[in-house]
Amino acid sequence: MSSENTTGHTHGSDYEIVYPQTPLSAEQKEQILVNLQKIVGKRNVSHRELDRLSYSRDYWPIALRWMLEGKVPALPEFVVWPETADHISRIMRMANEENLAVTPFGEGSGVLGAAIPVQGGIIVDMKRMNAVLALDDTNLTITVQPGINGMNLERFLNQKGYTLGHIPQSLYCSTLGGWLACRAAGQFSTKYGKIDDILISLEAVFPQGTIIRSKPVPKSSTGPRIDMLLLGAEGTLGIITEATLKIWPYPEKRVLQSYVFSHLEEALESIRIILRRGIFPAVARLYDQVETERHFYRTKKTRGKCVLILILEGDRELVDLEGSVSHAVCTEHGGISVGEGPAAHWLETRFNVKEISEFTPRDVVFDTIEVSVMWDKSMELYQSMISAMKSIDGVIIASAHASHFYPQGVCFYFTFGGTPMTGSPTDFYQTVWDAAMKACLHAGGSISHHHGIGILRSPWVQQELGSSLEVLRTIKKALDPEYVMNPGKMGL
Ligand SMILES: Cc1cc2nc3c(=O)[nH]c(=O)nc-3n(C[C@H](O)[C@H](O)[C@H](O)COP(=O)(O)OP(=O)(O)OC[C@H]3O[C@@H](n4cnc5c(N)ncnc54)[C@H](O)[C@@H]3O)c2cc1C
Repeated sequence: MSSENTTGHTHGSDYEIVYPQTPLSAEQKEQILVNLQKIVGKRNVSHRELDRLSYSRDYWPIALRWMLEGKVPALPEFVVWPETADHISRIMRMANEENLAVTPFGEGSGVLGAAIPVQGGIIVDMKRMNAVLALDDTNLTITVQPGINGMNLERFLNQKGYTLGHIPQSLYCSTLGGWLACRAAGQFSTKYGKIDDILISLEAVFPQGTIIRSKPVPKSSTGPRIDMLLLGAEGTLGIITEATLKIWPYPEKRVLQSYVFSHLEEALESIRIILRRGIFPAVARLYDQVETERHFYRTKKTRGKCVLILILEGDRELVDLEGSVSHAVCTEHGGISVGEGPAAHWLETRFNVKEISEFTPRDVVFDTIEVSVMWDKSMELYQSMISAMKSIDGVIIASAHASHFYPQGVCFYFTFGGTPMTGSPTDFYQTVWDAAMKACLHAGGSISHHHGIGILRSPWVQQELGSSLEVLRTIKKALDPEYVMNPGKMGL
């Protein structure tokens, strides 16, 4: 491994480090390496440059841009692969003594820089903690380690006749721990809920090494739920080491429906009424005219319209009934059925994502922004976020679909793309995000529905959380006085 100087440039390499750190002395490094090897065993620690580079970024588009420009976002000193909660507890105790940052890492599919080790230190890669520990048919639960890959977990369940109901688009490239740490949402969340709703209990290691386990019970009333502090904390308050989750019998039947509407508002109203009647389609996705054109250009009947896709699944008799009610509601509200086609097309192509890797090397700035809002403010938020993004010089496209629904409101998923007229692509990117976030806050929405905060959204957290941020900072200080856990994230 090559040595580094204090500017963050590596001798013999010509890359710049965006978040450079003062390197540890050779003796310190050697001592820490020996200590880590004692904790997790020699094969479970690396300080090789190649491994450190592999953990220098997640899927944040700006980090990809930096890499294309020859810049490395950040370099950890060590990568460790713990196998037990006790390993992690001992790593945390050592990190506090040595004042070393610790960043948990799932599969690095986060899109906001949350897993980037901006203060170097130790990457704790959770992938070797990937076992299924128990499957309980009576209680309909599964207990799993958090490093399990999403697709492996769902396949395991499907083979046994169940589903988790949590199918994010990143299913193949993300872990359970990452989902819990970001409060993720799957494509089937309208029926099964977000991962927050699916979680029953967990085991976790707090920043100073304390291991906690919550009880797997359906509900309790025993004070605030300390384990819930870890949900959405993006690894800033501890590391999740085990989780018990709800599961469902694999659906007996699936009904696919697709409708076109002339106006987004009518389609939103249809979904609101469907949910109000107590029907929860597993999938409900509504595309504005621009996105309809992008995704369904092969279906002539969708031209100039908004497409709504519904997928109902579960018990055969219930699904048939739900299907007939949802059909009636959609047609009463101006929807015209276009058969199964668009829904089937979506099912087939739902894991295809290529825009960011395709556009970024061509200097086109492209990203997505998911927010949530109550029904009464939904159209206002949609319109004001679209106009805010379009008002930035250089924005070529600004569009949205709505993909997670509740009886109380909706999640909009915006896409923007463009090229800067002046300034750098990074400045342009920040300007569009700033306009979008301000419009969202102004319209009464939440700045994130399921991706989280990371580095990117930190500037708007104060406005989002108000005085709750101060309380969160107090909790952080109490639990992690040395600020070792994933520092530099979430506006903490
Ligand atoms: C193509 C694509 C599609 C996506 N689709 C969706 C989607 O449909 N729904 C959705 O919600 N998100 C989606 N995402 C975002 C991303 O997949 C999620 O945020 C996911 O939850 C991250 O999981 P991960 O294992 O890759 O975590 P990482 O990116 O490795 O880490 C994310 C955060 O979690 C922390 N962390 C990881 N493991 C643990 C642990 N065990 N304990 C504590 N903290 C931990 C990390 O420190 C970091 O802060 C998508 C991303 C991509 C690239």
